[in-house]
Amino acid sequence: MTLPKTSLAMVQTAARTLEPMDIPLPEIDDDSGLVRIEACGICGSDYEQFEGVLRTPMPAVPGHEPLGVVAKIGDRAAQRWGVDVGDRVAVETMLSCHHCGPCLGGSYHLCNSRRIYSYIPLSDAPGLWGSYAQYMYLDPNCVVHKVDSSLDASTAVMFNPLGAGFRWAVEIPGTGPGDTVLIQGPGQRGLASVLACREAGAAKIIVTGLEADAQKLALAREFGAHATIDVQNENVRTRVKELTDGRGADVVVDVSSYATEPVAQSLDYVRMGGTVVLAGVKGFKEVPGFVSDKVVMKEITIKGAIGVTSTGYANAIRLLESRKYPVERMHTHDFDLREAELAIRTLAREIPGEESIHSCLIPEA
Ligand SMILES: [Zn+2]
Ligand SMILES: [Zn+2]
Repeated sequence: MTLPKTSLAMVQTAARTLEPMDIPLPEIDDDSGLVRIEACGICGSDYEQFEGVLRTPMPAVPGHEPLGVVAKIGDRAAQRWGVDVGDRVAVETMLSCHHCGPCLGGSYHLCNSRRIYSYIPLSDAPGLWGSYAQYMYLDPNCVVHKVDSSLDASTAVMFNPLGAGFRWAVEIPGTGPGDTVLIQGPGQRGLASVLACREAGAAKIIVTGLEADAQKLALAREFGAHATIDVQNENVRTRVKELTDGRGADVVVDVSSYATEPVAQSLDYVRMGGTVVLAGVKGFKEVPGFVSDKVVMKEITIKGAIGVTSTGYANAIRLLESRKYPVERMHTHDFDLREAELAIRTLAREIPGEESIHSCLIPEA
């Protein structure tokens, strides 16, 4: 396969500014590789990066949900990663050293010197550190997973939200057969959590959302949620009591973005001794009405969740490859790479009449 000399990339040069640039493809040594991006998933973090609130370096190539085909790979990398040219791969977001305390302790996502794809400046060679591009660099420390190439790219790239569903709603709280799980937020990660909890054997899955989320809540029911609650028109506390025989949920997962109310309220919805997982970020806002005594009195365990690790990704890919669920029903928009800004603004509800659940960028081959 002959490769082009450069890759088109949408480079973030300032807050709310993405510019198309041609970036030279690097030489690949024995330990690295190059992936031709087939699809790049878009999520709430893309919006925060676009807005500039994440204070990520600029200029840089954003895009942290890469799915693609290995275009070039060093011999040693091919051996270590178990993939070769032509294989479709999902690339993990975190680049960890694999040698520090947290890495050796099994928490490589908390690596002392971790770098994250899409948050590495263009000035750091070879610059292609994000998937808003035709090609992305595979660093010697990256982690890749083989994915069935017969899946649609826009479906296969859902390894990201699904991986989050498995890690945040199942692995971290230890959700198992018979559990009741309350998921706050019916976006792509909330919907993915429904599927993950179903796979884990949860007996009752409840999803909350806003009035404007009616379509997403309907999809949650289609995916197997036993009940959904419109927090603006229903009394959530009463409904949760009814649905859990007065006990509260074993696990409460917050994947809502920006709103802080769900954090304070999760203490009311969780059962005595239950677990709350906080995964939705709130722009570093304080949480009004958070009563810590509820945590004490009910012996609630509160856990934070950042990102996804290999087991979550592997479960997600297995679920996608099983074709057991109509996950593609979650996919609403494909955008061309050059339409990255439109994709982000659509996700952020800045485009009237367009409602995005899962969307992705598809670069021209
Ligand atoms: Zn993301
Ligand atoms: Zn490390």
